[in-house]
Amino acid sequence: MVAPGDIANIALRRMADLGIPPTPENFERFYRDTESTLKLAAPLAEAFRARSELAAPEAAPVSWGAALDQFGLRLEQATGALATLIERTGLAAAPAAMPVPSSPSQVVAPVFAPAPLPQVAERQPAPAQLPREVRTLIERMDAATTEIRDALQASRAELGETRGELKSIRDELNEAREAVQHDPLTGVLNRRGMDIVLPREVARARRVNAPLSVGMVDLDHFKHINDTFGHQAGDRVLVHMVELMRSVLRETDLIVRYGGEEFLVLLPDTDMQGARLVLDRLQDIVVKSPVIHEGRRISVGFSAGVAQFRDDDNGATLVLRADRALQSAKRGGRSQVVLAEA
Ligand code: GH3
Ligand code: MG
Ligand code: MG
Repeated sequence: MVAPGDIANIALRRMADLGIPPTPENFERFYRDTESTLKLAAPLAEAFRARSELAAPEAAPVSWGAALDQFGLRLEQATGALATLIERTGLAAAPAAMPVPSSPSQVVAPVFAPAPLPQVAERQPAPAQLPREVRTLIERMDAATTEIRDALQASRAELGETRGELKSIRDELNEAREAVQHDPLTGVLNRRGMDIVLPREVARARRVNAPLSVGMVDLDHFKHINDTFGHQAGDRVLVHMVELMRSVLRETDLIVRYGGEEFLVLLPDTDMQGARLVLDRLQDIVVKSPVIHEGRRISVGFSAGVAQFRDDDNGATLVLRADRALQSAKRGGRSQVVLAEA
């Protein structure tokens, strides 16, 4: 929040800039105008703060994943605030108490005082360990931030342009978010995506007291498939496997590519027996649907471990228990589903 004294100073400066006499009525108008403009600018400041979190050198994938979400939200609010600012700037074009402007550049009052926004120059460059998409996004945001600052003090037309720019950044943000959380080959979530969705699902299961199960699925002798049919055939098998998984899962279930030929399925509202049914169905369908690559038939099999969320679990222990069950499925001769202890 900006202190009343600061608002008054900004209001007085704007009046002086515009050559408006400091009568009590004019001062009151400008004070109220400045106060509400500063309020509108708050979401922008929040967006910039979210940006700093995103680019913090110590940011871990899970925290910058959340920061991307946060930034997206703030950007929405900032875009809304900008629209209001544009409207106000238009309305402020010829207020009764102001002298009739002699040139168009005088029409638009400088509606925004830059003080509450963090300085662009203080920003740290985006750290190298961030994915390329996120770094590009941060660079674009920095450029846009500068533009927003300038535009807020300039003309209505420029505010409009900035709004367009914000929209394009928002689209890019959504794309970047998609890209960094998904596996390009199969389109399912990657480990970063998992870091976002797993805590969410665990929190939901706790909150609504619903069962949550996970299945760790690992293709059997996949190296042999690669060696026999080639890496490209291996890739096709992975894509095919995801299609089969999708065909047996519910809309609300989630698939993560956990490793090369290892997938984690998250099954909300599903207990261990339900999860076993789903994976047994997957076994059936995988056996019946071999991949045909360059006229050759590739048979695929998998082993799986299943665990159901317990009170003493967190996301990591839940996955670990499913992974241990998977290891025992492998030791037990593969092509089978093993349930972790409840
Ligand atoms: P197991 O039954 O014990 O699971 O044996 P496996 O051969 O499936 O397991 P292993 O871990 O020995 O080999 C996994 C192979 O998966 C090795 C690696 O080259 C391959 N792989 C990992 N990622 C990809 C990928 O994106 N595409 C292809 N084609 N192969 C991959
Ligand atoms: Mg394997
Ligand atoms: Mg494996």
